[in-house]
Amino acid sequence: MSENCIFCKIAAGKVPSKMVYQDDLVAAFQDANPLTPVHILVVPKKHYENILDDIPSEVLEAMVHAVSVIVKQTGIDKTGFRLITNTGDDAGQTVHHFHIHIMGGRKLDPSAGEKRD
Ligand code: 5GP
Ligand code: ZN
Repeated sequence: MSENCIFCKIAAGKVPSKMVYQDDLVAAFQDANPLTPVHILVVPKKHYENILDDIPSEVLEAMVHAVSVIVKQTGIDKTGFRLITNTGDDAGQTVHHFHIHIMGGRKLDPSAGEKRD
């Protein structure tokens, strides 16, 4: 547990959240400020800064498994969804505990909302 990390606290159940999935390695909960009708964050229970932080393969595998369970639970496996993991300043990562956004439940902006330069 990294001190003062909000996602460490949520994953440990020390801060309330709308939890949708948990196993030994992973927690998933609703984003507090959802941008889409379905907006869920999948996090490792242990603290890693971002996707480059030497995350054990079993943790990555558990996260992908959690994604597949959650998209089926919410039904967006049928309609489509987007996974995003913001990393570093240019991507605007605000919480420095690795997380995957699952977004769906409506037609999403093409190309992750990006405009061509
Ligand atoms: P990032 O910009 O780092 O990729 O995404 C961080 C996400 O975490 C944002 O979408 C934000 O709404 C969400 N978030 C920040 N603090 C909390 C919190 O305390 N609880 C929950 N459920 N989500 C949070
Ligand atoms: Zn953390």
